[in-house]
Amino acid sequence: MTTTSNQRNNQRSSQGQRPNRPGMQRPRRRFFARKKICRFCANSDLKINYKNPDILRIYLSERGKIVPRRISGNCAKHQREVTRAIKRARNLALLPYVVSD
Ligand SMILES: [Zn+2]
Repeated sequence: MTTTSNQRNNQRSSQGQRPNRPGMQRPRRRFFARKKICRFCANSDLKINYKNPDILRIYLSERGKIVPRRISGNCAKHQREVTRAIKRARNLALLPYVVSD
């Protein structure tokens, strides 16, 4: 009884697959973390407006998706405004909803 349960435990522990090998571990960051600044905080002349799609276009990916804050570097307040402006501009066909090949 006890031997069979031990055997089963051994089997399970040997079968357990560990994807991270010791050589693969990297404590460093995935990418160079450049210091990001919110463009709209740094430059108060820049106004977020749905009627100005040229500024909003910076915050669209090449597929037409809105670039997330962790990549764009915007602060929460301005990212929210950018998102709203982009959605408005999309509705007026100033910006694309989706960019297809
Ligand atoms: Zn800001």
